[in-house]
Amino acid sequence: MSFIDTHCHLNLDTFTDRIDAVLEAAAQVGVKRVICIGIDIPTSERAVELAEKYPQIYAAAGIHPNDCVQPGIPDNWEQIINDMLNHPKVVAVGETGLDYYWDDAPPEQQKKFLQAHLELAKSGDLPIVLHNRDSDTDMVELLTNHPHARGVLHCWSAPWTIAQPLLEKGYHISFTGSVTFKKNTMVQDVAQQMPLDRLMVETDSPFLTPAPFRGKKPNEPKYIPTIAQFIADLRGLPVEDLAGTTTRTAEKLFRL
Ligand SMILES: [Zn+2]
Repeated sequence: MSFIDTHCHLNLDTFTDRIDAVLEAAAQVGVKRVICIGIDIPTSERAVELAEKYPQIYAAAGIHPNDCVQPGIPDNWEQIINDMLNHPKVVAVGETGLDYYWDDAPPEQQKKFLQAHLELAKSGDLPIVLHNRDSDTDMVELLTNHPHARGVLHCWSAPWTIAQPLLEKGYHISFTGSVTFKKNTMVQDVAQQMPLDRLMVETDSPFLTPAPFRGKKPNEPKYIPTIAQFIADLRGLPVEDLAGTTTRTAEKLFRL
């Protein structure tokens, strides 16, 4: 059985000096490849560096909606990210998106950055990795009105009525350990009824450790089988089947 952690942040300081151990622990439970996601310019560069060093790591380059405030981000950020997209191990643009939960960046600025990322993904012919928190309506409007339709809504946290138009548009959905939290029936409902061939799994580590390991920090790619088992049980499938479908879906979307 083998898995891909489609969204983790081994490029953050939490993991400095521990990458080998983290990858080894993941491989032991079948998590053989991971996609390391940038949240700003330095972490995107670090993701590319890790992807160059480790065959099992792939990278995504982008600026997180909570980080899209200048002057932290240089004026020529689009050019810098675009240059990274030419690297053979950069498999996606992101993460980008909208986050109205935190007040870090004004919504108009977030939308501007998301539009720019969509253009980069379209011109680079790459999938886009999207973050969406408390911004469902704007997210659906923006994505359904844009010609780019290849990518994933990561760490799904919205009801089925929001999933529907995005799936129809062609997007994928991936689930973190938050799907395992007892009261999260809204997310469990989407994991249960969405088309299996658009579903992927991720840890978003070091954040969001799944139940029953919730108190343990930081989260790591080795917890992917726990998330997969939970979703397999929801759908009445053997976990081996879910491992197979989610891996094939990720290989196809990110062209691994
Ligand atoms: Zn993330």
